[in-house]
Amino acid sequence: MSESPWKVAIVGSGPSAFYAAQELLKQPEGVLMVDLFERLPTPYGLVRGGVAPDHQKIKSVTKIFERIALKPGFRFFGNVEFGRDVTRAELLEHYDAVLYAVGSSSDRRLGLPGEDLSGVQSATEFVAWYNGHPDFRHLEFNLQAKAAVVVGVGNVAVDVARILSHTPEALAKTDIAPYALEALTNSAIEDIYLIGRRGPVQAAFTPTEARELGELPLVDTVVRPEDLELDEASQAELASSGRQTEQNLEILRTLSTRSLTGKPKRLHLVFCASPTELLGQDSLETVQLVRNRLEAANGRTRAVATEEAFELSAQLLFRAVGYRGVPLPDVVFDEKTATIPHEKGKVLNPENNQREYVAGWIKRGPSGVVGTNKPCAVESVQTMLQTFQEQGWSPQGAPDIVALLQQRNLAFVSFDDWKRIDAHEVEAGVPLGRPRVKLTDPEDLLRVAHAA
Ligand code: NAP
Repeated sequence: MSESPWKVAIVGSGPSAFYAAQELLKQPEGVLMVDLFERLPTPYGLVRGGVAPDHQKIKSVTKIFERIALKPGFRFFGNVEFGRDVTRAELLEHYDAVLYAVGSSSDRRLGLPGEDLSGVQSATEFVAWYNGHPDFRHLEFNLQAKAAVVVGVGNVAVDVARILSHTPEALAKTDIAPYALEALTNSAIEDIYLIGRRGPVQAAFTPTEARELGELPLVDTVVRPEDLELDEASQAELASSGRQTEQNLEILRTLSTRSLTGKPKRLHLVFCASPTELLGQDSLETVQLVRNRLEAANGRTRAVATEEAFELSAQLLFRAVGYRGVPLPDVVFDEKTATIPHEKGKVLNPENNQREYVAGWIKRGPSGVVGTNKPCAVESVQTMLQTFQEQGWSPQGAPDIVALLQQRNLAFVSFDDWKRIDAHEVEAGVPLGRPRVKLTDPEDLLRVAHAA
């Protein structure tokens, strides 16, 4: 092995990026260097900008990421955007390998007439807004609506429904963005409809999240018992599905036995229904829907529209039907799957350079919880190390990227700089009994980062 270390650049700083760094840094000290590049001044991707603020326990995974960041051979370059501040060609020039771990930053659309009406918004943007993501802090949501519809029954839909219906006191104990806390405290929403196109057996939410829907102090949760009567396709699916599906059903059955108790808000779980058209003059007024029946086809139970239509009066609609990956400048991309094509984590690029890798949602699509990214990242890193070994590969002894960043006058944020932001936010939370008060303006973030 040569004297100079192997140099790996990781683009992105969410869970898959940190798990990849962890796996790489298992090499003996001095053998390998890892630089993480992040567009924002802050690390941790969806753990900071996606995980719901009332789920602080999930966010404690950042303690593990922090330990990885403190290992010798690790550097963080926040506030550096791939494609704008550094290009693919430059990273390939400065590193022996580049691993893309940028997640899925956009969302899937419904493709419905009326989807561009004001009041029809993306759940992923709402999530980013209430989590204080700098790019989304200026968005506005009509929280003066009386009724809101959330399309989809995955964990993002459930997060949105829960945040819309929490007590202001509960939200005030979280790290929700200050402007979102104020807007949600003044929310007028009374009815929230969660719409699943298939049945309760096919619901994508997990039991812990489903259970929380029945524990909201301000909310009567409404499940129609007839929605829980399983047709043949669902019974067959239930028989071959795991414990989580059974638990979901048990929770829903308990909720369906409850009667309204006159709480100020109602959360309606609606199954086997799909919106067909969104109506309104300038902004959303009515959601037209159709009831679905289920049909088993090619090993999957699919929703088929029936003739039975109904409508809901709603002024706000969130589509929560999944995230979607977006292409990186100059990097190969599969539009159909919205992922980077790969084989066991090695990017299948046209020049077959064997030096590009991928991990996380941009590799396998937007599914799974934080921990799912660990085996995913480990596979990619193993492929990387194996490829280098097979090729008798030795490091190219590339120049340090810092010279290029300095030459461009880029105000990059190191991990020590981030720790200053972190300390500032945590300290601001102490008198308020909050885990932190997030800074959301990039200028404030950079001012605090570079205040040393
Ligand atoms: P998801 O789990 O894939 O759920 C997407 C939902 O949208 C499904 O109910 C899906 O129904 C529905 N859907 C898709 N296309 C639709 C359409 N055209 N019309 C109507 N409904 C449609 O995605 P997600 O909620 O965005 O979550 C992404 C990942 O992050 C998931 O793995 C999730 O578990 C994870 N996550 C975890 C947590 C947590 O642990 N607390 C929180 C948030 C997110 P079908 O099943 O019928 O396709």
